[in-house]
Amino acid sequence: MADCIFCMIANKEVPSNIVYEDDKIVCFHDLEPQAPVHVLIIPKKHIASLDDTASADAELLGYIMTKVKDIAGMLGLENGYRLVNNCGEDGMQTVKHLHFHLLGKRKLTWPPG
Ligand code: 5GP
Ligand code: ZN
Repeated sequence: MADCIFCMIANKEVPSNIVYEDDKIVCFHDLEPQAPVHVLIIPKKHIASLDDTASADAELLGYIMTKVKDIAGMLGLENGYRLVNNCGEDGMQTVKHLHFHLLGKRKLTWPPG
């Protein structure tokens, strides 16, 4: 989608520090890391948010979930991690392309603000 920064990253029109990529997803380091490891996992397909998913996206969403442990393993998060999705205005979503934050390598506090 035009004017979507994460589509541009997926299409290599904008540089990013990619840690994993396949035909369905891209995972890259967040520009402003909130933990020693902070990457974003996105589908290559433009979906605006979790709220904009359809039943046809179930396979893709399931695929992302099963890839999390592989990416966590690649990044050395053997002691645990947190997967976060910010959705919509109250969720403080700033980039309107579905993404999951994967954070780790520090003791994360709860609850989030
Ligand atoms: P949100 O607040 O929408 O859940 O998270 C968006 C995330 O994308 C933020 O953590 C922000 O630092 C990150 N981000 C925004 N623009 C870019 C970019 O151009 N490159 C990278 N690598 N991360 C970005
Ligand atoms: Zn997009």
